[in-house]
Amino acid sequence: MLAKVEFVVPSVLNKGQGEKKISIQASDMQDAFAKVSEQMGDDFRRRVFDHNGKPRSLINIYINGKNVRFTGITSAQLKDGDSIYILPAVAGGAELTSEELQRYSRQVMLEEIGFEGMEKIRNAQVCVVGAGGIGNPVATQLVAMGVGKVRIVDRDVIEVTNLHRQHLYTDDDIGRVKVEAAAERLCKLNPTVKVEPVPTSVTKYTAENLIKGFDIVIDALDSVDARYALNDACIKHNIPLIYAGALGMLGSVCTILPNKTACLRCMFPELNEEEMPACSTEGVHPSILYLVAGIQVSETVKIITGREPTLANKLLYIDLNELSFERIQMFRQEECPSCGIARKESKLADNELIIEELCGRDRGKRTWTVTPTEPTPVNLSSMIKNAESLGYQVKTRGNLGITAVNSGRMSVSFLSSGAATIVGAKDKEDAVKIYKTFVEQP
Ligand SMILES: [Zn+2]
Repeated sequence: MLAKVEFVVPSVLNKGQGEKKISIQASDMQDAFAKVSEQMGDDFRRRVFDHNGKPRSLINIYINGKNVRFTGITSAQLKDGDSIYILPAVAGGAELTSEELQRYSRQVMLEEIGFEGMEKIRNAQVCVVGAGGIGNPVATQLVAMGVGKVRIVDRDVIEVTNLHRQHLYTDDDIGRVKVEAAAERLCKLNPTVKVEPVPTSVTKYTAENLIKGFDIVIDALDSVDARYALNDACIKHNIPLIYAGALGMLGSVCTILPNKTACLRCMFPELNEEEMPACSTEGVHPSILYLVAGIQVSETVKIITGREPTLANKLLYIDLNELSFERIQMFRQEECPSCGIARKESKLADNELIIEELCGRDRGKRTWTVTPTEPTPVNLSSMIKNAESLGYQVKTRGNLGITAVNSGRMSVSFLSSGAATIVGAKDKEDAVKIYKTFVEQP
């Protein structure tokens, strides 16, 4: 038996083009929905049905003014003259707009994401730590996919040797602060995403404030001490951390769920910065960076949309030579100083400068970063004056940092957070001395 009924689609489900009344003949509610969907199209389908094809829980359905959620949607009988009205509940945050649905349609149609997944992605906040070889493709994908807020943290400036793999940057960006150039490009890529550049180093002093309040943190770093600091901060604040490393033709990825799965210190308790191979001596294939970054993003999206990440307690090991992907089982360690029973919080000293030596730059000149333990914002205009009075020529000036060089081909990059990179200092003491002359110059 077919009943002649009127189906009323409210404006919000009709691309904002006003209420639409559709007369149909239907045997039951399911049949009615099928016929209306046929007329309304994909946009309507995505908004009304979940990935099982059932009306989403936030969709209220009324027959002659009575909400059928109380009597059961499928058992609802239809008779001639019935009026069916549907209305999505407004539950916090706004519904996806039709512009958003169009922009993200090719991921919304994936069963793994869908309409609800997309809303979660849009409300998510992800902190990408490192704006280098891994951070570039990670941030690009997250921003393009419409993650609500993406913070990018890095202490460095762009060098010509970065450009073969760090594709957010161009020749014109050499000497600029990485996070500033990255944020500029990413805002053009997707202006609806809030991109927040943070120009600073990750240390055990700064890590917690950098990641607090975020849903997920991505490790796109290249130094052991910074990775440990980030790991410890994520464990303490219970924020999932997606680790990746890549060098040469090799890469690895692992998802760390604090206090549930093995953390970085459980897996690698005694890494030593001095013994680690580095990009500047070993080289790196851009392809391996895109592989590990893509997997980090996919793990991130799984967590955001409420699915199980695949690499919890598993270290994925990729060899581009063989094109082999191996998953190695990892285990939490009781003795772990970060997440084990013997965990201890290290006492932090105040008012220090942290000095780290980086790979040599500009044909092997010794390179140092100097980071105050507390952020110590510097005024960049007065920093430019200081640099010039010290005989330096300012090469690039941005909102988040400057780079200046002198006749001895020393190069000093100062970030607005007070961190600096000094290329060409003789030793650690020399680096500190140069840092102080820049900061203290009257
Ligand atoms: Zn651990």
